[in-house]
Amino acid sequence: MQDTQSLRWQKVREQGRWHSIALVGALGWGGSFCVVFAGFELWTGAARAFLPAALNAVPLGLIAGAIYGWSRWGYAQWCGVCERRSQAEDQDNDEPKRNKMTLPPQGARPGRVILPPAMLGILGGGQLGRMFAAAAKAMGYRVTVLDPDVHAPAADFADVHLCKPFTDPEALAELARTCAAVTTEFENVSAESMRWLAAQGIPVSPSGDCVAIAQDRIAEKTFIRNAGLSVAPFLAVNTAADLEGDLSAYLPGILKTARLGYDGKGQVRVKTAEEVRLALADFKHQPCVLEKMLPLKCEVSAIVARTENGEIAGFPVSENEHPTGILDVSIVPARVPADVAEQAQAMAQQLAAALGYVGVLAVEMFVLDDDSLVINEIAPRPHNSGHYTLDATLTSQFEQQVRTMCGLTPGQPDLISPVVMVNLLGDSWGMDGSEPNWAPLMATPNAKLHLYGKREARPGRKMGHYNVLAQTADQALEQARVIQIAIKK
Ligand code: ADP
Ligand code: MG
Repeated sequence: MQDTQSLRWQKVREQGRWHSIALVGALGWGGSFCVVFAGFELWTGAARAFLPAALNAVPLGLIAGAIYGWSRWGYAQWCGVCERRSQAEDQDNDEPKRNKMTLPPQGARPGRVILPPAMLGILGGGQLGRMFAAAAKAMGYRVTVLDPDVHAPAADFADVHLCKPFTDPEALAELARTCAAVTTEFENVSAESMRWLAAQGIPVSPSGDCVAIAQDRIAEKTFIRNAGLSVAPFLAVNTAADLEGDLSAYLPGILKTARLGYDGKGQVRVKTAEEVRLALADFKHQPCVLEKMLPLKCEVSAIVARTENGEIAGFPVSENEHPTGILDVSIVPARVPADVAEQAQAMAQQLAAALGYVGVLAVEMFVLDDDSLVINEIAPRPHNSGHYTLDATLTSQFEQQVRTMCGLTPGQPDLISPVVMVNLLGDSWGMDGSEPNWAPLMATPNAKLHLYGKREARPGRKMGHYNVLAQTADQALEQARVIQIAIKK
């Protein structure tokens, strides 16, 4: 896609082309006039009386045509000079205007706004894609989902479901052809696919580069540390040779695979150097990080929405509990001192700015015993710990995803009410696949159920969630726990 500058130049060039055509046309008209009268005279021999007038008309036509054509051509040249001059002025004097004239690294042009009923594309059709599609549809956009699963949860809400692999060239070309902008719902999508789409001129957010960083724990932790933010002491383990030195600074620790880990999968706790070596062998010597085990007071996440103009809106920080490695509940506002919550929010914003991030970015953090904050990991998309925003903030994280990809200003992220979000895992379904006992949840007027439309319930599988809104976070938590026990089959 061309930037604003080259589009303006194209317009001037087209104008010049039409003026040239006008000039040639006028000359042609004069020439034709001459030929027709000469032929008429030869044919009839009777037009002698008109010949002087005709011969006068020829040069007059030529002169008039030339004056007309050259004046239009001159006007086009003058437009070009003005265009060049105004660009030079923009570049010399006016920083914001200059930004408007250059292509930013994210692929979309600053100032560009995409309005309904434009088609928005999303890579991935899981529950995050489903909630994105619902938000986009509510705003009047159309949605194309790319996901190889015929029963992808997002397909229920999509106008078009491209049921193909994420790297399928035809499906990607279709997205590029039909969508005004593209986003993703998961970080393990091919960053190359995203870069390819951006190269076709489609605004892609977040950028393939940001996704690539989030995909790899080594790149991620290195980037965060280089941005001046705190991470747990870690060692990049690309091969077994990296474990030959003294490991005491990282022990006891956790060995995590650099790629494709989620919900506590792809990591193992280790106490000795020998255990680290065995764990690495178990992971088939794929690249890993060895990370020091930290004393956690609690875990929080800060989710921000950032536009390519650098506008940023941060949601209230949530406190997250993952007793089995999978998120169980999110409590908002987080039960941490106000300055800790503020600092968490500021760190997330600093990181988003350092990444030049466009879209919704979730930053998971540890609160240590001394109330200091350490960034654990990032997700380049809406996050499970932000599902409370569907009912408890003025704008949801999914609406923010729509807004940021469309170049709209972020919506207000203010909290309407304290809230607790509870994940509904497949464990709450009966062994025979029967539905949980929904009655106590449905009978609670301040509880909001969200189901993802997944056909099969499996232990640990995220099937849905509910939000409980109350006067205080503690009251919401108490009520949420009662419901959690009552609905389980
Ligand atoms: P995942 O991608 O599976 O979410 P995380 O890196 O977030 O992986 O780790 C999962 C959980 O393990 C964290 O939420 C936290 O409870 C615990 N954990 C991870 N790293 C550490 C650490 N360095 N110190 C203490 N606990 C940790
Ligand atoms: Mg995590």
